Amino acid sequence: MEKGTTILLGLRGVAVERVERVTGADGGPARLVHLRTAVSSAAGCPCCGVISTSVKQYRTTRPRDLPYGEEPLAVRWHKRQYRCREESCPRKAFTESIAEIPPRARLTGRLCRKAAAEVASGRSVSAVAAEYQVSWPVIHRHYAAHADQLLTEPEPPAVLGIDETRRGAPKWMHDDEAGRWVRTERFETNFTDLSGQGRLLGQVAGRTGKTVTGWLDDRGHAWKHQVQFVAMDPCAVYRSAVQRALPHAVIVVDHFHLVRLANQAVTRVRQRVTRQVLGRRGTTREPAWANRRRLLRAGERLSSEQFHRMWEEILTQEATGELLAAWIAKEELRFLLSLARQHAPQSEISNRLFAFYDWCARADVPEVTRLARTIEAWWPQILAFINTGITNARTEATNRMIKDAARIPYGFRNLENQRRRVRLHCKRTIISQPIRE
Ligand SMILES: [Zn+2]
Repeated sequence: MEKGTTILLGLRGVAVERVERVTGADGGPARLVHLRTAVSSAAGCPCCGVISTSVKQYRTTRPRDLPYGEEPLAVRWHKRQYRCREESCPRKAFTESIAEIPPRARLTGRLCRKAAAEVASGRSVSAVAAEYQVSWPVIHRHYAAHADQLLTEPEPPAVLGIDETRRGAPKWMHDDEAGRWVRTERFETNFTDLSGQGRLLGQVAGRTGKTVTGWLDDRGHAWKHQVQFVAMDPCAVYRSAVQRALPHAVIVVDHFHLVRLANQAVTRVRQRVTRQVLGRRGTTREPAWANRRRLLRAGERLSSEQFHRMWEEILTQEATGELLAAWIAKEELRFLLSLARQHAPQSEISNRLFAFYDWCARADVPEVTRLARTIEAWWPQILAFINTGITNARTEATNRMIKDAARIPYGFRNLENQRRRVRLHCKRTIISQPIRE
């Protein structure tokens, strides 16, 4: 009959012989559990499988197990070493082993599983290693095996999101050849499933065209063919890479980044005009500076009173009207982009696009002209956005999670470890955020 202590310990394949009180490593009370093997299969030769009855000697190992109770609990497993009597077997001797404690294992299976699950749930490897008093590499190895099992090859998404995140802080490196210091930033390209739950599919170091085509080509032809849409920032390198690797896919650039470009144009005009008029930077005394945030707000979110007061003030000081021209260009662009998901007829889209270009041409402000050129260069992808409404707002949500995951262990030195960690973290955290308008 099974003893109560054996049931209490609950480690399959071994029985508790006795438990004794000892003094722990810290001088405090501790418990020592003596185990013996309780399954007959442990006497089977790992080479030929024949059960042996010839005991060669006894050996004691100290496998580490999960803590139980407050006082430290140490384990001694008294196991037999057998001779293999099978004549054709090359193995002369073997020691008992059970599934929970395989040969040469120093940790029980349940300790490894618990540690791996805790790291996977978001704790740092070093915190878990400290709690179980196991070294960092051992905990990490078990976690990595656990994660690799969960992180199988991603299913091809109908809508793929591609974007970049910066890895770590920028660094200043000395370029010996050029004889000067250069600022270097490390980037990663992220691939996200925008048709599902916004899950991170993969991460590659760098942000070149090769980074993108390489990852996509590795997925294989059938996988690539399933991708119908690709959402990205207006980044020419990414676009040409996707055009090469996924020639059939429709590229979509979302409005969020386009509005940001328009806002940048407004800010640049404000700064330039202020310098030209005043010969210095703006201060709180200047209405353009005082309204700098209001200028970037959506036009319809300004009350009529706010709108009139703001422009009256600005135009008294900045009589050229260039800032107003840039602001109107931004609003024309927003008006055009607001057609997304409206099933607008092509004629309406053409009218609003013409109104935007026409305004930019008449304004003849360098920053506005540059904005119009960018819109022109990206028009097919912008039109695809208006027609599909696909946005990579979910990619942005994933990027936040990437940063969260990287924050737990205070940065990663090993890129492979980081990618595994980030992908598992994103897989676990289901994005419930609605698509941003
Ligand atoms: Zn054998």
